[in-house]
Formats: sequence, structure tokens, C-alpha cells
Amino acid sequence: MSIPFKQAVRVGAYVMKHRLLRTKRFPMVLMLEPLFRCNLACAGCGKIQYPEHILNKRLSPEECWEAAEECGAPVVSIAGGEPLIHPEIKQIVDGLVQRKKFVYLCTNAVPLKKKLDEFQPSPYMTFSIHIDGLRERHDEVVCEEGVFDKAVEAIRAAKARGFRVTTNTTVFDGEDPSELRKMFDFLQDLDVDGMMISPGYSYDKAPDQDHFLKREQTKSLFRQILKDRQKWSFNHSPQFLDFLEGKKEYECTPWGNPTRNVFGWQKPCYLLQDGYADSFSELIDDTDWDAYGRKSGNPKCQDCMVHCGYEASAVLDATSGPREMLRSAVGLLRQPGAKKPSATPV
Ligand code: SF4
Ligand code: SF4
Repeated sequence: MSIPFKQAVRVGAYVMKHRLLRTKRFPMVLMLEPLFRCNLACAGCGKIQYPEHILNKRLSPEECWEAAEECGAPVVSIAGGEPLIHPEIKQIVDGLVQRKKFVYLCTNAVPLKKKLDEFQPSPYMTFSIHIDGLRERHDEVVCEEGVFDKAVEAIRAAKARGFRVTTNTTVFDGEDPSELRKMFDFLQDLDVDGMMISPGYSYDKAPDQDHFLKREQTKSLFRQILKDRQKWSFNHSPQFLDFLEGKKEYECTPWGNPTRNVFGWQKPCYLLQDGYADSFSELIDDTDWDAYGRKSGNPKCQDCMVHCGYEASAVLDATSGPREMLRSAVGLLRQPGAKKPSATPV
């Protein structure tokens, strides 16, 4: 696990506070989508299919800060679309960092090298680079040659300037586990600060519907990919990786990762669009949460094992008692290249 010590402590304390207050539903990661437009056109993408007038819409910095303040989640993941082509992305990030949010700016990295001058390294800010395979496979997934090399160049440039850099990988049906394992070795050799991994989800809007994983396929594939995962630094709790491998079962907690985008607060999660709320409190109060997750029988949820539904469930498990808390703490300190707590950014 390669979650920074400071972030792990802050999130742990935040979760414990809500447990003591007996808050029924509370957010851990705000999924912020300030625009849907992107510079790439990946076949599996459910975001870039919107009509032009929607692709032209953007959240303002004030709307982004207001969303972060209203929901109170300690972590903000800025996705899209491609956030780096938002003309006010620097103001958005600066404002969130000033509010001491742990910001993950998710990018395909093509515009990153040219944009680095605009940002300052901060323990609160991480570039999370989309990498779905080694050169040939990644370029195939993003439907454009040369993107992998640009991403690697951008990772090296960002690391050289002192930025914290992680990667995020979506796993689709038919992936070769040995190729993904080579990719994690390669990324680890690049000295990234952590890696994220999640199965893909079959969006209604995605044009390529044939390559998304069913639940049992997901577990089998992840067991092969992660069989000796201790050698890699993942930016996940060990409990979430256990879940992907089928060693733990959780119910979805979509309210843990609420989504705010140009339409409002998306019900119930980052993946489904069953309407929008005007405010976070309306999202929490007016969503029929029992209609989602495996137990609900909702067909859209049966094969889903995606991080935005289950990472919060894993965090709740990780803070459920001394045994799981100790396991998380040991994982934090034993990660490859782990720094002593005193050396982590403050
Ligand atoms: S880089 Fe991300 S947002 Fe852009 S097209 Fe690909 S999947 Fe969609
Ligand atoms: S199971 Fe997946 S699709 Fe269903 S609510 Fe949870 S995150 Fe969304």
C-alpha cells in the first residue's frame, strides 16, 4: 500500500470520527468531473460521447471548491474528460490544496509535460496517470500511437521536479495477466509513488461493450495479476486488493465516493446516472441507496467491482477493529520504498 502516511492518518481519523458520531453515510473521496471533453478518444470511454454543448460545459473553480467544502471528503479525485485541458485547472487545484484536500489529478498525461510549470509540488497534490498497459497495449486502448511514450516522458519529468506521481490502470476482459505484471514492474522501476488498479465498468454510453469483465472473471484475473503483490506499491488498502482477488466480499458503498460534475451530484455513483441532485445533502437524503449494490438485485450492479463503489467499503473494513487496523498499518510501513512516518510530507 503506498498511501502517504499523512493521508492515511487523516482519512483514518475522519472515518473514526464518523463512526463515533454514528453517521450512516459519509463521503471519503469526492469524484470531481469539471468537464467531459478530452484530447483523446478511447473506445471504452463513457464520458466523451456527450453532444458538443455538454462537452463545452465546465465547472468553475468556485463550484469545485463549494462541492469539496459541502461534502467534506478529505480526498478529491479530479477526473473528466481530461482535467488538464480545463482552462482554470490550476486555480481549481490551488484552491483545493489551500483547503488541505488530498488532490489526485487524473490525466492521460499527454498535456502534462507542458503544464508542469503551472503547478507546485505539494504533499496534498498527486498526478494520477492513466496507464492501461505497456506501449503497444496502452496505445491500442487509447486508440492513438505514441501516447504511452508521452505518458512515460511526463512521469519522468514530473518526478524530476519533485511531484508525487501515481498511475491508474483499468483492467478489461481478455487482458494478459503476465503483460500487466510486466507493466507494474516497469512502473515500479519508474519510481512512481503508487499504482491504482480497477476493473472496467460497462457504461451504457461506451461504444465498445464487448470487453468488460464479469464478476467471477474479475476475481480470477486479479488473482493472477496480484499473486505476489507485496513487491509492488499500490495506492489501495490491502482490503480492497483482497476484494478484487475474491478473498473478501463487500457490499457497495457508493456514497463513499460521490460524484459532482457539470450536471450536479450524480445518483448514485460515478458509473450510473439515475438522476442528479442540486446539493450533496440532497444526494444523500433523496437517493434510494437500497436500490443499488449486489444485494439489491439491480442488474447494473451485479458484475461491478469498481473502486468507486468498493474502496470505501474496504476502508470501513480496514477501520472496523484492531486486527484490520494493524494489518493496514503494517502494510503502510512495509510498502516497497516506504519512508518512516517522520519523513512523510507535512
Ligand atoms: S483519456 Fe480518459 S477521459 Fe479521455 S477519452 Fe480516454 S478514457 Fe475518456
Ligand atoms: S455496484 Fe457499482 S454500479 Fe452499482 S451503485 Fe455500486 S459502484 Fe455504482
